[in-house]
Amino acid sequence: MPFPEFTRPSPNCDATVPHEQLGVVFHHTVISFDETIALMTDPARQVSYHCVIAPDGTRCTLVPDAHVAWHAGVSSFRGRAGCNAFLLGLSFAGDTYAAPLTAAQLASALEWLAPRWFRHGWTIDGMTDHRQVAPGRKDDLNPVEWDRLRAALVARFG
Ligand SMILES: [Zn+2]
Repeated sequence: MPFPEFTRPSPNCDATVPHEQLGVVFHHTVISFDETIALMTDPARQVSYHCVIAPDGTRCTLVPDAHVAWHAGVSSFRGRAGCNAFLLGLSFAGDTYAAPLTAAQLASALEWLAPRWFRHGWTIDGMTDHRQVAPGRKDDLNPVEWDRLRAALVARFG
């Protein structure tokens, strides 16, 4: 059975330039799933992810892949600045320093990734987290949880 998924469109995105969809920046939200959806759909906040995953694996889509979500801020990946233009934002509700990712969150992330991975020809080299693209400014994910996630990606997709 796939995980439940629903959509709450966020106004906090740029639909005028097509998203390049070269890979993914993973985040955690610190706050709860419901609080995240409320914040990301508030136009005053100017922040969004493409998708957020609850501890039970339920996914909420906030921004279509084709649009630029505002998740990474000042950032750079493999020498290129401005990750929002070319990396999708996928976030886990909760704080990975306070509690590990749940098995359902990991499985739901793999389910979300699978069609995109093959459609775009992604590899593990296109996967990163907020801590790595904004070093010193952001600390998500906990490195231990990033290692768990990365191992799950390699096991699933090679
Ligand atoms: Zn983040």
